[in-house]
Amino acid sequence: MATTANTQTLEEIQNFKGKYPKQLWYLFLSEMWERFSFYGMRGMLTIFMVDKAQLAMTDHDANLQYGATQAFVYTLAFVGGLFADKVLGFRKSIFWGGFLMILGSFILAISPKEFFYVGISFTIVGTGFFKPNISTMVGDLYAKGDERRDAGFGLFYSGINIGALAGGALCVWLGKHYSWNAAFSCAGIVMTISLLIFIFTKRTLGPIGLSPLGGKFTSSKIKMYDIMVYIGSLLAIPLILLLVSNSRYTDLFMYTVGPLTLLYIIYEMLKYNKIERQKITAAMVFIIFSIFFWAFFEQSGGSLNLFAANNLTDKVVGIPMDPNVINNSSNSAFVILFSPFIGLLWLWLAKRKLEPNTVVKFGLGFLFLSLAFYVFYYTRFFANKNGITSLNVFTLAYLIITIGELCLSPIGMSIVTKLSPKPMHGVMMGMWFLASAYGQYAAGLLGADMSSSNPNASLSEKLILYTDGYKHLAIYALVAGVVLIVISPLVRKLMHEVH
Ligand code: GLN
Repeated sequence: MATTANTQTLEEIQNFKGKYPKQLWYLFLSEMWERFSFYGMRGMLTIFMVDKAQLAMTDHDANLQYGATQAFVYTLAFVGGLFADKVLGFRKSIFWGGFLMILGSFILAISPKEFFYVGISFTIVGTGFFKPNISTMVGDLYAKGDERRDAGFGLFYSGINIGALAGGALCVWLGKHYSWNAAFSCAGIVMTISLLIFIFTKRTLGPIGLSPLGGKFTSSKIKMYDIMVYIGSLLAIPLILLLVSNSRYTDLFMYTVGPLTLLYIIYEMLKYNKIERQKITAAMVFIIFSIFFWAFFEQSGGSLNLFAANNLTDKVVGIPMDPNVINNSSNSAFVILFSPFIGLLWLWLAKRKLEPNTVVKFGLGFLFLSLAFYVFYYTRFFANKNGITSLNVFTLAYLIITIGELCLSPIGMSIVTKLSPKPMHGVMMGMWFLASAYGQYAAGLLGADMSSSNPNASLSEKLILYTDGYKHLAIYALVAGVVLIVISPLVRKLMHEVH
């Protein structure tokens, strides 16, 4: 099998029979373990930060620090996508990123308190090289116009969430009940599994993900460029460390990087004709709206995680359950459960010519998001006098938020690869994740804004502050959804029949 797979051309790969190409399953598995590690870490961050024996931060600071950390993770995805397009190709980027993520997790495992920022910085740079590029490779398994692409991203999205479910539950549980060293080691071990799967299956990818410089330069020159990227990314680690550990620098970085990348995209766009440019513009509309989506959605790793730690009962439908485990994993469980149904629903509607277009689906995503935050707000009416409220209602809000996510996130990744020309695939996927970076950054600010910086605030006070904040988010999300639906005819024009 190895030799035939080795010689497969792009056309042979893209002309696969059935619903999914077999390479998708390999990427699925590798991404599943990577997300296990990533969401394991994400789920631990705020809890670790506020732990009195660890970083002993206030809720306010932990929210900000969480937002900054996540913002850098996703900002680096833009850089990772860019270097993959221009120098390394997707495969070497994934290898390098995975390697740095493993190093970061084990550095944290040695002494999380002492090496927190060092370990996190390695992980941030590593994820930047890994995450966007594995997603872009999924898109490259499909020929232009292949209707099966959305389903492919849907399946890939389930893989993401199987990993996120297991990691979000296991790592935070290990950290809270056993030791943070064990929890970070767990993240490192599963990341090693992810990378090994990728290394052993990458030969089946034919030419997908090879260096874009192949054929243009001699192999020794290519090696030199590769090494320059590796060294550059290692040198970036102390810089990231400085930026991420100092919120003032984080702000400055976020204010400059966005406008610069936009200018860069405009510069790249100029190389293409009018139709291509309009399609890229449409992709940018999706990308910009997604910032708002993630800013609200990502309360999940920040303020909602702290809300869960303090203000919730520990039973869901009568079953004893750690509320942080619910917070970190119920979303993923609902994605796994509902994503096939949502896929079928779109197909069913398509047969009746009723399927909403991608812009309207995005709008619906916001409407569900709005409803979910209304339910988070509504938890306050179920609270006892100590400010402890219902984990059931909280879980219901996660169910609703997940439906919103499924209307937007997998479709977003897919549409970005459909609307952009091939040489820009990496960078546009990077832009998609850069939007998440801004979302995460804003999520931290919003979370900090609604949390009390008074370490002695009572649980009832915290409940009121957080739920007030959630009500505001519900209103903003509603407005964004309505705007998207109203402008949908315009955006569709820019998309030129791509849907
Ligand atoms: N849950 C998805 C993932 O981990 C989307 C994350 C994002 O874009 N913010 O891939």
